[in-house]
Amino acid sequence: MLATLRKSSISPVSAVIDAPKLRRAAGVTTYDVAIVGAGILGLAHALAAVRRGKRVVVIERDIRANGASIRNFGFITVTGQAAGDCWRHARKSRDIWLEVAEAAGISIEHRGLVLAARRPEAEAVIEAFLGTDMGQECERLSPFEASQYVPPLRTDTVKTALYSPLELRVESKDALPRLANWLENEHGVAFRWGTQVHAAEAPRLDTSAGRIEAETVVICPGDDFTALYPGRIAAYRPTRCKLQMLRVRPAERFLLGAGVMSDLGLARYRGYADLPEAAALAERLDREQADERANGVHLIAVQSEDGSLIVGDSHHYDDMPDPFAPVSVSDLILGELDAVLDIPGRTVVERWIGTYASAKNRWRFTDRPDDATRIVVVTAGCGASTAFGIGEETIADLFG
Ligand SMILES: Cc1cc2nc3c(=O)[nH]c(=O)nc-3n(C[C@H](O)[C@H](O)[C@H](O)COP(=O)(O)OP(=O)(O)OC[C@H]3O[C@@H](n4cnc5c(N)ncnc54)[C@H](O)[C@@H]3O)c2cc1C
Repeated sequence: MLATLRKSSISPVSAVIDAPKLRRAAGVTTYDVAIVGAGILGLAHALAAVRRGKRVVVIERDIRANGASIRNFGFITVTGQAAGDCWRHARKSRDIWLEVAEAAGISIEHRGLVLAARRPEAEAVIEAFLGTDMGQECERLSPFEASQYVPPLRTDTVKTALYSPLELRVESKDALPRLANWLENEHGVAFRWGTQVHAAEAPRLDTSAGRIEAETVVICPGDDFTALYPGRIAAYRPTRCKLQMLRVRPAERFLLGAGVMSDLGLARYRGYADLPEAAALAERLDREQADERANGVHLIAVQSEDGSLIVGDSHHYDDMPDPFAPVSVSDLILGELDAVLDIPGRTVVERWIGTYASAKNRWRFTDRPDDATRIVVVTAGCGASTAFGIGEETIADLFG
């Protein structure tokens, strides 16, 4: 009956809406939206759905989020995202992050970005970027001005800096649980932790804890391409990207007033790297920093409440990334840190790897197995920055 209705020309969601209502009347717990995955993308969809008054369940196989969403920098980045809908989603998501952070008690550790340029070719990219629509809220700073945000900045070697006021930094490993708690306690979202979803086709999900019913299903599996709809996901030719990350403790505490990036970021982040002026920079970096370029190394440094810095990262692509973190790659990351910041007596106190979904020529995809089911995957390193915008888009698509 449901399958027949879904294939008919009747509006998809209204077509299946009666069945859950009937089951609810019969005492069976049904939801308007079931979300698979409690990473940032799943939580963003839960938020978008409860904002529309929907009854939501989030089903997560781990007992708490443990994937890319808690291993990242927590750097909500707008400036540097690829022009077009990636930048727009990041701009929108950043505003939602601000609202949610206040409501859910998530602290913003610092705001803004200082992108420190050491080469004339990097200056040219910054100048060109400032001439784009995306650069409108940004400005160019002298090394001295930039050092007001970033006290250890090497003002002797840094020639200029791009400043963006838009970025936000959250401590993801704390922010994600807080967001989930807030969604549960303030918005009535049901969470099923430690529950694997074996099959999901609205209105039915088969899980390791039994059957769950929902009018619509949104699957946010991160870089798990095989548990659900493997054939459909494979059509987007995804692979996985492994990143090495470090926590660095300065001998003497200082206060970072912005996230820090460098020349390597200008040649990697598509909002800059797609500009024609970036070609000369990329060429020079390929000559002068060939190892960094070969290992996909660029610099992001952000600060935690205790004064330590999260520093990264590298990019290695493989369908099955190995779990190893070569010291040689960490050393390249630390070398770039030292080229931009002077932090005497710094020590590395933590190392970890993370993986995220990646695909050539697309930064995300939304697949529609049927009218009421969506698979949503971010295939670039910008899910924390864009998730809230994507969540609103998917829920609007499902419910009008
Ligand atoms: C080291 C690192 C640094 C990064 N830095 C940044 C950054 O600073 N800024 C930024 O914007 N982005 C950054 N990213 C990218 C960003 O973290 C990801 O794009 C984002 O977290 C993806 O979120 P997600 O919810 O799709 O995936 P995940 O966080 O991987 O969550 C997916 C969840 O789905 C669950 N799941 C999958 N299948 C099932 C199933 N069948 N049943 C039940 N549960 C299931 C998994 O257990 C998992 O918890 C970084 C990523 C990494 C790895």
